[in-house]
Amino acid sequence: MGKHLVLVGGGHAHLTILLNLGRYIERGHQVTVIMPSSYQYYSGMGPGMLSGIYRPQEVRFNIRKMVQDRGGAFLEDKVTGINPGGRILVLQSGQEPPYDVVSFNTGSEVPHQPFLPVPRENIRPVKPVINLLQGRQHLLKLLGEKELKLLVVGGGPAGVEMTANLWRLVQDNKGKAKVTLIGGRRVLGGLAERVRHLVLQSFSRRGIEVVEGCHLKEVGDTEIRLSDGRSVPFDFTFLALGVKPSFLFAGSGLPTGEDGGLLVNSRLQSVAHPQIFGGGDCISLAGNPLAKVGVYAVRQNPILYHNLMAALEGTEMQTFVPQKDYMLIFNMGNGRGILWKKNFMWEGRLAFLLKDYIDRKFMRKFQVSGERDEKE
Ligand SMILES: Cc1cc2nc3c(=O)[nH]c(=O)nc-3n(C[C@H](O)[C@H](O)[C@H](O)COP(=O)(O)OP(=O)(O)OC[C@H]3O[C@@H](n4cnc5c(N)ncnc54)[C@H](O)[C@@H]3O)c2cc1C
Repeated sequence: MGKHLVLVGGGHAHLTILLNLGRYIERGHQVTVIMPSSYQYYSGMGPGMLSGIYRPQEVRFNIRKMVQDRGGAFLEDKVTGINPGGRILVLQSGQEPPYDVVSFNTGSEVPHQPFLPVPRENIRPVKPVINLLQGRQHLLKLLGEKELKLLVVGGGPAGVEMTANLWRLVQDNKGKAKVTLIGGRRVLGGLAERVRHLVLQSFSRRGIEVVEGCHLKEVGDTEIRLSDGRSVPFDFTFLALGVKPSFLFAGSGLPTGEDGGLLVNSRLQSVAHPQIFGGGDCISLAGNPLAKVGVYAVRQNPILYHNLMAALEGTEMQTFVPQKDYMLIFNMGNGRGILWKKNFMWEGRLAFLLKDYIDRKFMRKFQVSGERDEKE
């Protein structure tokens, strides 16, 4: 007899399942997808969407359409609670859908609450990625009005790409702005010194200011305060303070890893509840917590696709073996990229073109024809 599979979040780790949803339905199962919006934005192209290199419809998947065209049910809602004993989810709307098998791909959030309980029009966390589009729309209105002070707080890879693409947004729209990166203790402190050097050199050539050796202490209406006592005024700020798995699992009674992510085994299955699975930034892999990069979410796709079917039908599961190294390419906003993998680095136009090729190929794979929505 058919069972009920529920997918929570249409993130990067669920895309293969969404594309092949028809296979579950052909076999008599019912599939429901729950997420708070019809669209899923691809974060790898998010900074390029901010600057205008990509149009929003080039970087998003219409998940609602993908699901409904394949015979699944789409609920525009948010999961706020989980009852693993009763196999029931609790939604923001008050609905309580039951499941036989559920998979979470709810991503991660920027932990901004201690500084900024609620995002504002002129200060936004870099996740969800829709914030980059809304930030762009807000900035396009401001750019014609006066010379702006634009800040990015956070010196990790996301902070670097956001800074570089804010600069591009200003250039392409003939605006006037001072762009500053508040880089925490040290910009790209976790990567090779040469990558850091290339980024700082690129920023200094373009007049982008970089502040290091201090961290964010407080956010005011039009200025932020730093740990060294300095106040920095702003017209607009993006917060790129790193990420934490979505807060959904805290208090759910499900075992979580140290970072609060759903604790899963190598089958991407909850260590306590065999009907619960997960992938992407919201999980913590037991014994081997992974970096929060999309690369892992993408690699988990085929394993989750297989294992959810196996859980529904009682067949054998596959194991996820994370790759040891991954490649990062920064979109530097000036038509150039910086590629980093292990000890290898490469800066230049070709590095950006390679990133652009990989990202567009990824979009083509999952943005099936007719699903590219031309609306803004
Ligand atoms: C600016 C920026 C640039 C980046 N660039 C790169 C890059 O170039 N390469 C790279 O590898 N990584 C990059 N990353 C990291 C990357 O974004 C994440 O690792 C990746 O998004 C994780 O994918 P995910 O599917 O787990 O989550 P997400 O892509 O965040 O998807 C989560 C999904 O869950 C839904 N959801 C959330 N909460 C709920 C809920 N309670 N109920 C129902 N649905 C919910 C959301 O609507 C969304 O559909 C970047 C990150 C940022 C911020």
